[in-house]
Amino acid sequence: MTLKEALIKGAEVLRTYSESPRLDADILMSFMLGVPKIKLFSEWHRVLSADEQAKFFDFIERRRKHEPVAYITGTKEFFARDFVVSPSVLVPRPDTELLVEKALELAANMQQPRIVDLGTGSGCIIVSVIACLRAKGVTASGVAVDVSAAALAVAKENASRHDCLEMIEFVQGSWLDGVHGPSDLILSNPPYIAESDRRISKELNFEPRQALFSGPTGLECVLHLLESVPDYLKPGGAFLCETGAGQHQDIERALSARHRPGYHSEYFRDLAGNERLVALFKEPLK
Ligand code: GLN
Repeated sequence: MTLKEALIKGAEVLRTYSESPRLDADILMSFMLGVPKIKLFSEWHRVLSADEQAKFFDFIERRRKHEPVAYITGTKEFFARDFVVSPSVLVPRPDTELLVEKALELAANMQQPRIVDLGTGSGCIIVSVIACLRAKGVTASGVAVDVSAAALAVAKENASRHDCLEMIEFVQGSWLDGVHGPSDLILSNPPYIAESDRRISKELNFEPRQALFSGPTGLECVLHLLESVPDYLKPGGAFLCETGAGQHQDIERALSARHRPGYHSEYFRDLAGNERLVALFKEPLK
């Protein structure tokens, strides 16, 4: 069987199981052969060995059973960098790139910002922010917090991969426990799916539950963070928190009921037009 034939057959097997069958087959083939995806075309007529075929169709079978491609290959691209992932961490999503963009915009006006990432998982947020700031000549320091020791090990590996291990402190703990002193930016992609939500995709069953689901409404973690984070912000600092589509009205209602003088909030949508981010700003000192 040639590489081309295997790709066509692999994509066909995935047709009704994946939203991107051809792309998945390409990524799995490229991973199996250790050849960059872009080079597959030049190997189109290569005849696969029996061993290569078996490995490829084994990956296709895992994907057919809804295992995310990133767990099969062990990596995922996020904000133009490759991140190591394992089933102990959420697979980085393009949706979360909005959080990184906003953090970079705000950090551009800060002096040596201290940036905290709560529930860091793979570390894709804090590592992207710190590495991008460094490329712009801004020295930032990071604190990456997670309850899961296995997740922190993955985050450290990613920090080391992107040369920012020394710039980030890793703390095992629940949210702000273990974070000392005020910060310029606090970032989080907390769990925000309602425990009762039955619309979730089968892929999510492979991911850590505690990174996805948050109480009966899905808003429990977001609201807990919005309540506790202000004590940890410097004047002029901000908290950026990823949210789910359709959650902004409830968050706004909760924040107006709480009414905290000296703070204001803003809401942002992602490129797909979905509500995706809430920002809480602490006023600068006059
Ligand atoms: N955006 C993810 C999803 O809906 C959820 C991520 C999260 O809960 N933080 O698949």
